[in-house]
Amino acid sequence: MSEDLSMKCGLEIHVQVDTNSKLFCQCPTNYKDVEPNTNICPVCIGHPGAKPMPPNKKAIDMAIMVAKMLGCEMVIDKDIYFQRKHYNYPDLPSGYQKTSVPIGEHGTFLGVGITEVHLEEDPGQYKPDLGTVDYNRSGTPLIEIVTDPDMKSPEEAREFLRQLLRLFRYIGNLRGEGTMRADTNISIKYNGIQGNRVEVKNVNSIRGVYKVLKYELIRQKNVLRRGGEIKLETRAFMESQMITKGMRSKETADDYRYIPDPDLQPIVLSNDWVEKVEAQMPETPMNKEKRFVEQYGIKEDDAKVLVSDLELADVFEKVVAELGNDKDGISLAVTWIRNELKRVLVYNKIEFFETNLKPEHMVELINSIKDKTISQKIGKTIIEQMVEHKGEKTPKELISEMGLTVIEDTSELEKACEEAIKNSEKAIEDYKSGNQRALNSVVGQVMKLTRGRAEPGTVVEILKKKIDG
Ligand SMILES: [Zn+2]
Repeated sequence: MSEDLSMKCGLEIHVQVDTNSKLFCQCPTNYKDVEPNTNICPVCIGHPGAKPMPPNKKAIDMAIMVAKMLGCEMVIDKDIYFQRKHYNYPDLPSGYQKTSVPIGEHGTFLGVGITEVHLEEDPGQYKPDLGTVDYNRSGTPLIEIVTDPDMKSPEEAREFLRQLLRLFRYIGNLRGEGTMRADTNISIKYNGIQGNRVEVKNVNSIRGVYKVLKYELIRQKNVLRRGGEIKLETRAFMESQMITKGMRSKETADDYRYIPDPDLQPIVLSNDWVEKVEAQMPETPMNKEKRFVEQYGIKEDDAKVLVSDLELADVFEKVVAELGNDKDGISLAVTWIRNELKRVLVYNKIEFFETNLKPEHMVELINSIKDKTISQKIGKTIIEQMVEHKGEKTPKELISEMGLTVIEDTSELEKACEEAIKNSEKAIEDYKSGNQRALNSVVGQVMKLTRGRAEPGTVVEILKKKIDG
């Protein structure tokens, strides 16, 4: 029997704003670096009667920027209330979470509708296995992005989150990697039967979201196939087992008994305010990719790789500017940044920003190759060393320390060539009988003997002279 299966997925994504102080008090937000329950005050641990301060300005600015970057319409000249969202959990001492009504609405990102963007406070951290709660995180500003249920496969949701995290890095001031959490909503239709929506709470990685969707797709399909019913419910993600488990039947908005927080003035955004934030907005990755192709005439694939990492893209532009913004300069920059540097980064599983390499380092290296101080092969070794030394040594220092400058002394080169010829009887024979390519292995030997410090062109010249006589 043929199967007709489709799914719809929507996400509620939470990301922390990198502010110094919390959303409604002046406690610091570096909760990961300090002893439990030290960054706390009556406001952020919800003492009755503790009066919150007006919301952190930077947090609001960042929420505006995220909403704008996601193409939202901003809520202008209207009261944006903070509401009390009531629920009972050990990480929430006041019994309610302060969460704003939308700051921006009706956006779109990668073809997925953005329902709304709003601001809220992070709760504390409850550790059920220890029975302890750490309130250091409580009150840290969070931006929540709610999408429409537009994603149709686990792969699409995964790509959406990857691109969103990349956007967070572009925007800056957000703690994307490491703090991103997503509530994942999924419903499926199987052979004409529509299941109810299931929510899986607090999935804290892209891989987790992907696994949840894969798992739920199969679980829900199996329930419907057996003639069962998909309940409207909230499930938990058991990360160690990569499965989901029923938690409770889904709350409706009524269960949270939302009321505007009487202790907090609503935010009112003006066009002026939004324009000021917009003036500081960075170029989006998509626009940068397009601009790279148009401005530098590089391949779309190369642009994609460079733009996937904001720092790498910046270095590329700075290096091109230094080398001369022409065909040669651009092609050198593509070779040594997009190909070679990227290869070393991927091999070491690190991002460019973790290497402490500076654009000047790349310019110095490329110039050394251009003026033939070092061979291309040595260039590759130096790049590996630059990454390994985390930018502490300049290419010039590494080249001289390792004694890797190109051999200028012809007698030294001739000696290496003679030795290589001596060791390559078969190849020389082949070459003499007309196989030009046989010479490559002899050149390779010379490179080995000189530890790559020979210029291949010069080597071929000397070899030919010696063999052809
Ligand atoms: Zn506090």
